[in-house]
Amino acid sequence: MSDFRSGFVALAGRPNVGKSTLLNVFVGQKLSIVTPRPQTTRNRLIGLLQLPEAQIAFVDTPGLHLGQRRALNRAMNRTAAAALGDADLVLLVLEALKWTDEDDLALSRIRDAGRTVIAVVNKVDRVHPRERLLPYLAQLAKRHEFREIVPVSALKRRNLDDLRRVIIAALPLGQAMFPLDQLTDRSLSFRIAETIREKLTLELVEELPYGIAVEIEQIEAQEDGRQVVSALIWVDREGHKPIVIGADGSRLKRIGRAARLELNHLIGGRFHLTLWVKVREDWADDARALQQLGLE
Ligand code: GDP
Ligand code: MG
Repeated sequence: MSDFRSGFVALAGRPNVGKSTLLNVFVGQKLSIVTPRPQTTRNRLIGLLQLPEAQIAFVDTPGLHLGQRRALNRAMNRTAAAALGDADLVLLVLEALKWTDEDDLALSRIRDAGRTVIAVVNKVDRVHPRERLLPYLAQLAKRHEFREIVPVSALKRRNLDDLRRVIIAALPLGQAMFPLDQLTDRSLSFRIAETIREKLTLELVEELPYGIAVEIEQIEAQEDGRQVVSALIWVDREGHKPIVIGADGSRLKRIGRAARLELNHLIGGRFHLTLWVKVREDWADDARALQQLGLE
């Protein structure tokens, strides 16, 4: 019998603890967007780590969070909770030395799903001296019967080999679920939209709340290999439109340029992006809009 292992590993936890960073580092390519803002990840996304002894399907999820005012937030929490139920193994990602009400919420959702859990204590690069971590780890061990507790730094790539080993050991024996050369379950158009949304978020860190979304209207592959893309940026208030566009369109230009450079680098080929800003009042609370944007 083969001793190959494979399974779905959900990255769960509150917003901003480093779930998407961890997925990108494990998979070796930036698949999931990352910003300093909470609630950056809105969709479920699979990134595949293909090894001779295992196939690990990492499932990135939106952070579990409190405050369910808008339909978008409720949909994000539902997406995250659903991924837990489908997982063979759950990683509860935490920030070293921190435990908040939202960490509590995440742990209780994970408990409800009844899956094996590994606690991943991320951002240990910020802990000086290292011994300060010990009482935190001891406390954590009392909160749940974790299969393992593993301190790491996704950003500095510390202790990730250990984490990979304990993940593989916790996966069921079984054949690969995806083709061995597959990297993600997401389409090119999803990755383009997300890259644009990341650049928007980075550019607008202070000014714009979460009411922004990107929809790809059209992608056309040209004979010379260029990909010509037309994308809509949705904002939820008229007043946000000039903020996104900037004086003389300067800001929108910067955003388009940053997205184009990253896409050229990540995906290859040459991208030509045209960005349009459109107002749709309160889209984040509009079930139909969420569906159209693939968020529900
Ligand atoms: P998510 O919301 O849980 O997916 O978190 P992200 O992956 O988007 O990361 C949120 C922020 O934390 C970003 O600014 C990351 O660069 C940062 N971050 C992620 N991992 C680490 C880490 O190991 N150390 C430090 N210092 N920052 C990190
Ligand atoms: Mg994320």
